[in-house]
Amino acid sequence: MSWNIAAESISLVMLGIVWVYARKGSHLPSLKNKIFQGCLMVTFSAMLTNILSTVMIYEYQRIPLWMTWTVTMVYFILTPLMGLAYFLYTASVIYTESADIRKVIAIGSIPGAVYTLLVLVNPFNRVLFDINSREGYTRGSLISVTYIIFYAYCVASIVITVWNHKRIDKNIYKILAAFPILAVSVIIVQQMYPNVILSGSAATCALLIIYLHLQNKQISLDYLTNVPNRQELLNMLKLMLKRAPQKEFVLLVVSLREFRQINNTCGQQKGDEFLKQVCAFLCEAGPEGNVYRYSGDEFALLFPKKDEAQIIKCVKAIERRMEEPWQVGDYCFILSTVMGIIYHDGTEQTLEKTVNAVEYAVFQAKSGKYGQVCYCDKKMLEKLERRNKVIAILHEQVAEKSFEMYYQPIYCLETGTFDYAESLMRIPHSEIGPIYPDEFIPIAEETGLIIDITYIILDKVCKFINRLTQKGIKIGAVHVNFSALQFSQLNLEAKVLEIIENNHTPMSALKIEFTESTLAESTQAVTEFALDMLDHGIRIGLDDFGTGYSNIATVISIPFGTVKLDKSLVWGAMDNKKSALAVKNLTKTFKELGMQVVAEGVETEEQKKLVADFGVDQIQGYYYARPMPEAEMEEFMLRNGRGAADQKG
Ligand code: C2E
Ligand code: CA
Ligand code: CA
Repeated sequence: MSWNIAAESISLVMLGIVWVYARKGSHLPSLKNKIFQGCLMVTFSAMLTNILSTVMIYEYQRIPLWMTWTVTMVYFILTPLMGLAYFLYTASVIYTESADIRKVIAIGSIPGAVYTLLVLVNPFNRVLFDINSREGYTRGSLISVTYIIFYAYCVASIVITVWNHKRIDKNIYKILAAFPILAVSVIIVQQMYPNVILSGSAATCALLIIYLHLQNKQISLDYLTNVPNRQELLNMLKLMLKRAPQKEFVLLVVSLREFRQINNTCGQQKGDEFLKQVCAFLCEAGPEGNVYRYSGDEFALLFPKKDEAQIIKCVKAIERRMEEPWQVGDYCFILSTVMGIIYHDGTEQTLEKTVNAVEYAVFQAKSGKYGQVCYCDKKMLEKLERRNKVIAILHEQVAEKSFEMYYQPIYCLETGTFDYAESLMRIPHSEIGPIYPDEFIPIAEETGLIIDITYIILDKVCKFINRLTQKGIKIGAVHVNFSALQFSQLNLEAKVLEIIENNHTPMSALKIEFTESTLAESTQAVTEFALDMLDHGIRIGLDDFGTGYSNIATVISIPFGTVKLDKSLVWGAMDNKKSALAVKNLTKTFKELGMQVVAEGVETEEQKKLVADFGVDQIQGYYYARPMPEAEMEEFMLRNGRGAADQKG
């Protein structure tokens, strides 16, 4: 018999290339990756021994028979075991890290083990094949077992794939279902033309498909920096938390601050070069092989062991390096960074919680409250947990529009009545008790929820004004607070007008209040919005004046209806003559510019006298009234509002 080994030899080279590339791929020590390496090794060895054995059988008269026997035996063991390796690979993809995988491996390996025994006893009974010096190679009576085993594994792969099709991703399903079919078809051709050896080509095709779609290193590496990407880190963390939840590890995220500025200054391409440099440095300073590109301008360093000295050394090295400039071409920058660190202490933890914790640590580091390196300790984790609860409650209350509105009356010195009021959002009841604005407003802003909240508030306030009007209670205007984030909305003007119009509330009954910091953050958007609102008859108020953000030129360029002096100005003026003089003159200036001035946070008789002496128009503070629920506010306005004064008058 003569055999053609051309296809087999070319396939061997191709498989060698795939193997080399696959070694540089995912470094995740998952079962799937290990089995894939096993598949490559078994297939490569099967093909190599097949070629060698074929050549040796040709030359059986010149080569010692024991050598030909040995190589052929190895080939006979490996060829059907390729089927086993694919089967195990399929099982590892389907069952990933679940407990079932051990059972599947154990049961699946039985036929392979029995067959291996059959090959091992073949020299004694020659049921599979014989090689002797007279006839060379001859087939034995049970040679078909070799094919049957291979087919059986291919069929088993298809069966478990189809059986589990619901839990597999559609694309992976197609690949897993395709490669055993491909392998079986080639083997059928092989049996039709037994002198062309094709088994290795079939296997190579199958592995190539798997490599390109499931094991390709592009899937796990970041294209720019060549380190594993975020998904790979998540897979790694998932694996670690599942396999050895008690094992300690440390995760550090290094975040470059304002990297966008660098891109803006020197272009994306140079920006990429800076990122590459930083990444190369982190790979040197960080834990070997465990540096990941976490996001555009963030890198994660995973320390698989909690070696405090190593971690401190690494953090210090990063801090030191970040004090030095980085150079790309003619561009030279100091790159400022912050770091968030979490320590997994072996207590129960999910991937989601771990990622949230490290992102929270980075977020806190960015806020500057904890220095540039923020270590997420127990206390912070508790805070994070509470924050997550508040977020969930906010989501719920936004969906149900169930949060409450309180109103704080504003006293008008000229008329001696409460002509205005400020609307203030409240969460008096929740599963964690009352939550105060100082806590939930910043969270609503950070999560972007404030945008929808503001629209709901505006609607509630319109309805409240309508109710007052229906009952004949007069009110000059109700102030609604707008936060800076609102100005990121493209259709803000239209949306605001729509809400007010839908309620048929007079535009003049509303005043939109935003803070100095909002004005400083988005001067243009705020200015345009304010002018547009004024055109529609909606008044505008500046809140928290004196907290140190605004450019006075900007403030006077917008025709604010009112400027509200911040509590701190009022309180500071109480025992500081210079401050008092400054506030008094500021008040005079604003009034001369046609604005009304409101004093906020007035709690005592002395404070009231002081601000009255400044010449303010209105006063808001506990001295007159605290914020109160709607029903109480109705009562209050009935007794103390403009209408009450008219009646008395
Ligand atoms: P703000 O806009 O400056 O609101 C005035 C705050 O001062 C209110 O606190 C009010 O209760 C408090 N206040 C009034 N008079 C006095 C006083 O005499 N003494 C003292 N110590 N405090 C006084 P509140 O309701 O806790 O709100 C705090 C902040 O939360 C608000 O400051 C505002 O920035 C934000 N906020 C509250 N409700 C809303 C809302 O509906 N929307 C938005 N965007 N922010 C809101
Ligand atoms: Ca306010
Ligand atoms: Ca204020």
